[in-house]
This record gives sequence, C-alpha cells and structure tokens, in this order.
Amino acid sequence: MAKIFCVANQKGGVGKTTTTVNLAAGLAKLDQRVLLVDLDPQGNATMGAGINKAGLPSSTYEVLLGTADVATARQRSEPGHFDVLPSNRELAGAEVEMVELDNRERRLKDALAAVDKQYDFILIDCPPALSMLTLNGLCAAHGVIIPMQCEYYALEGLSDLVNTIKKVHANLNPDLKIIGLLRVMFDPRMTLSQQVSAQLEQHFGDKVFKTIIPRNVRLAEAPSYGVPGVTFDPTSKGAQAYIAFGAEMVKRIKKM
Ligand code: ADP
Ligand code: MG
Repeated sequence: MAKIFCVANQKGGVGKTTTTVNLAAGLAKLDQRVLLVDLDPQGNATMGAGINKAGLPSSTYEVLLGTADVATARQRSEPGHFDVLPSNRELAGAEVEMVELDNRERRLKDALAAVDKQYDFILIDCPPALSMLTLNGLCAAHGVIIPMQCEYYALEGLSDLVNTIKKVHANLNPDLKIIGLLRVMFDPRMTLSQQVSAQLEQHFGDKVFKTIIPRNVRLAEAPSYGVPGVTFDPTSKGAQAYIAFGAEMVKRIKKM
C-alpha cells in the first residue's frame, strides 16, 4: 500500500509545487511508483508535470465530487515517469459544492483507496490555504512535508499549520504526522539563511530533513518547458538535491 504525503504550507510561493513535482520525479528515478495529486485549482503541478490543464477530460474536481474515479481521471507525466491526478480552475468550485456532501473531509481519502496498491508513494500538492481542499489532503495522508524558506518570517504562520495538523490528527485522521520540515530555496551565502536553518534544527531536531534544497535557476526554468526540474537538467544542483530528498523519503518510509 502506498504511503501518502501532503506537501503543505498555507503560504504561497514557498516551494510546495516545486517540491511535489520534483520529489515525484526523483522518486520515479529511484524506481518508485508515484501518483501526484494536484489539489490546487492553480494547476501548477499539473502543468509542471507536462499535462495541459485546459480541457481535462476529468480531474481532481470530478474525483472529489464522486463523478469520476482516480483510475479514469489520472494521466501519465511522460517526462516525469509518474502518474498525475490533474487539476485546473474548476477545482475551486469543489470547495463550495462539497459542503453539501456527506463525508466531505474524506472524499479524497476514499477515492485514493481504490488505487493505493498500485503505488509506493502518493504525493499531494496542497493549495496555499487551510481550506476544505487542504483538509481533504490532510485526511488522506500519513504525513505532511512542510517546505520552508530560511528567512526571518519563515516560522510565522507555522503554528497555524501545526495546530490544524494537530486537530486533524485528534478528530479526523489519527495516522497523520508531521514527517518533516524541508529547507528550500536555500542560499548558503546568506548568513541569515544559515542562522534560521540552525534555529530550525535546534527547535525541531530530527523533524528537519537532512536534505537541503538550494536556490537553483534550473528548477525555476523547468516548469515553462512542462518538465520537472529533475528531468530538465538532472545534473543541476537542484535536481540532485531532490533526488537525494527522494532517497531520504524512501529510507523514512521503511521506518513507518
Ligand atoms: P508554491 O507551490 O508554494 O506556491 P512554488 O513551488 O510554485 O511555490 O514556487 C514559487 C516560485 O519559486 C516558483 O516560481 C518556483 O519556480 C520558484 N522556486 C521554487 N523552488 C525553487 C528553488 N529551489 N530554486 C529556485 N526557484 C525556486
Ligand atoms: Mg503551488
């Protein structure tokens, strides 16, 4: 059965999508079977995996509303060598429409149960909000990966996310754990980055992943080609870091 992870942080622009897409591609390089679930109406992970979000036959939206199953809606990321449950703007409507439905927090969990034997990892790219969509991600997952930039305000807002995770753990999903904080867009030349990074290690101990993702322009360029950075330039520092992170995750799940 697949291990299911949410990549979450309610701030926008902190590297959630870059992490989800490149971890998926990195794990695929390590021969892991991966499904990426795009749970953000922006559809950036869908596009970054090389799938056109315009005119999807079916998507995360239909899966959440129960009008399509995952096996029908998923598509293959050819450049990334993983499967994708794609999304686009339509998904924003699900937020409202799900309010009427039974079991509205567990729609994604129930839908994924039909395919979870086909994968080693299911990675969920969450939207930048603690919304009903994110709640569906957290209810479906075994763990949360929190990408963060090592800057002055990095920890601001983290307590809201941690409290939400605690509440979901207590009331909806006893399996849910914070797997770790991932330092992304790291610039080792900045003293502040070094200081915040050290503080994170002090506060959170082994909840901080060993792998650090550097700021790397190849990772930022890749989405405009519809290719994960790991595939776009496998020798770049960014790609190498995400492959190393994949290896760290493979090790972690053996202990779960
Ligand atoms: P989120 O999904 O949290 O909104 P993104 O993954 O879309 O964040 O990243 C925000 C921006 O930062 C994007 O333009 C992305 O290309 C860029 N970016 C993310 N990670 C890196 C990195 N390690 N190096 C350089 N640019 C990055
Ligand atoms: Mg995103």
